[in-house]
Amino acid sequence: MTASLLGIYVWAIGVVAWFIIRYPYARKARKTATLRAVGWSRERILLAVATIGLFVIPVLWLVTGWPHQANYQLNYPADVVGGLLYVASLWLFRRSHKDLGRQWSASLEIRESHQIVRAGVYRRIRHPMYASFWLWALAQAFLLPNAVAALSGLVAIAILFFTRIDFEERMLTEAFGDDYRAYMRETKRIIPGIY
Ligand code: SAH
Repeated sequence: MTASLLGIYVWAIGVVAWFIIRYPYARKARKTATLRAVGWSRERILLAVATIGLFVIPVLWLVTGWPHQANYQLNYPADVVGGLLYVASLWLFRRSHKDLGRQWSASLEIRESHQIVRAGVYRRIRHPMYASFWLWALAQAFLLPNAVAALSGLVAIAILFFTRIDFEERMLTEAFGDDYRAYMRETKRIIPGIY
């Protein structure tokens, strides 16, 4: 098998694994009441942007071959790096779902009896799930042998992350006050000790 084809297979397996991990949490989340939702229409747009960059553009390229001008060949080291990034991303994605439990929602919400989570993968960074999205987009950049499909995930996650993050931290500060402010002082956003 060529390195390019292997990259596409690994990417596709990762996407399926991502949906399998999320499915039970998305089901449970439907049963938890929402007290407050922030920026509803902005959130719909951001989730659509993420879906387009991480999923729709790569699938369009896979199905139609367009834009073929941007195709290139992968090498096996790129497959390995991409695969390792994927494993790290899916591990962090699963752990952050587990640790966040009932407080998880796809868009910005405060749930009924919402509590701040500071344990597990939330101990040193405040946004491990977004960190897992960055790792996923990076893996995509290594695994897909087409410049547009490879980079669309990074562009989408950059838009989602940098637009949403201040609103999310403001919402949590309004809901939890000094508790969340103290948590912010003790942690970084996505890279332990750095950012
Ligand atoms: N930004 C986090 C969570 C993403 S899910 C991460 O990347 O891991 C988004 C929801 O998680 C938001 O609606 C918010 O209410 C909730 N949330 C974010 N951080 C939280 C925390 N430390 N404790 C409890 N809920 C949190």
